[in-house]
Amino acid sequence: MRIADILLTWYKECKRDLPWRKDKDPYKIWVSEVMLQQTRVEVVKSYFERWMERFPTLESLAGAREEEVIQYWQGLGYYSRARNLLEGVREVSVSYGGQVPETKEEVVKLAGVGDYTAGAILSIAYNKQEPAIDGNVLRVFSRLYCIDGDISSPVVKKQIRELVEREISFDYPGDFNQALMDLGATICIPKVPRCPICPLQKQCLGKEKGLQQQLPVKKKKTPPLPVRLVAGVLQQGEFFLLRQRPAKGLLAGMWEFPAVEIQAEEDAIAVFRQIFLCETGQEVELQSLLFKCTHTFSHRKWDISFYHCTGSPGNIPTGSRISWVNKRDWGKLSFAGPHRKMADFFVENRKKILQNR
Ligand code: SF4
Repeated sequence: MRIADILLTWYKECKRDLPWRKDKDPYKIWVSEVMLQQTRVEVVKSYFERWMERFPTLESLAGAREEEVIQYWQGLGYYSRARNLLEGVREVSVSYGGQVPETKEEVVKLAGVGDYTAGAILSIAYNKQEPAIDGNVLRVFSRLYCIDGDISSPVVKKQIRELVEREISFDYPGDFNQALMDLGATICIPKVPRCPICPLQKQCLGKEKGLQQQLPVKKKKTPPLPVRLVAGVLQQGEFFLLRQRPAKGLLAGMWEFPAVEIQAEEDAIAVFRQIFLCETGQEVELQSLLFKCTHTFSHRKWDISFYHCTGSPGNIPTGSRISWVNKRDWGKLSFAGPHRKMADFFVENRKKILQNR
């Protein structure tokens, strides 16, 4: 029996009940795949349902304001995914009359759509024979074919792609891809695969050789760089000094309390005061520590301390992205990760904070 036939039979009986599998709308598949890129299925389910209540169609998302879209994404992290999704659906709305295109060449040109997402959309929505290869599929195939090369190397990825292209079902490529996703997520899991209940155990070379737990082979990743930051919470009545991050790069376009990166050997207070003045035009003194947290990105780990600051108001430099924002408008802003935690902390503990000043 072919691998595809075994997988499809297993999928029919055991497929996961997921909200984006209720129909084959390419827009819904697109949204779910983008949400799933860095987030666990269990978390995505509720976000996806809330999203579809607000943006049920591609056109409803294409016509939405970016700020609102980011708010619906808040909590999923990696906000560039939401911005790219919005850019992509707007492109489909303008250039393809609102219909997600059906060819790989066109789909991969849409903002934020890579090889994997294109494969998922085309195979599930349009029944095209396109593989959708993510980390799960790489793991399953490296075990199935006992491939011991580094899984992140282009040579091994190409080798696996060719194998998936050879095995993919002709009639049901979308179900084949989804079966592989489910197998990787529930049975051929990292560390200790559940081989005794795997439908492919008789076909699996890795298991036959007893190497399933050693595969896939991965080169060690460099750990995220620790970065120390001091952020200033400066208040005038109901207004707080906030900064909008640049339009490109980490947490692009999001709002934050002005923060300064501190090198290990530096005098944190002196450096903070000097850079804060330069960037915001405000001469400040650091008072009490309000809140402290860490936040890990793929390449950096922020250790950020928020201090209550006092000072006499100065002129904000022209052309800067600094503004005085009324606290009642915080709900409309997309705060950058740990800064949202600080804003929430402030709202929840306002009375206590004011008493301690
Ligand atoms: S037999 Fe084990 S290692 Fe092989 S595909 Fe199944 S779960 Fe993975």
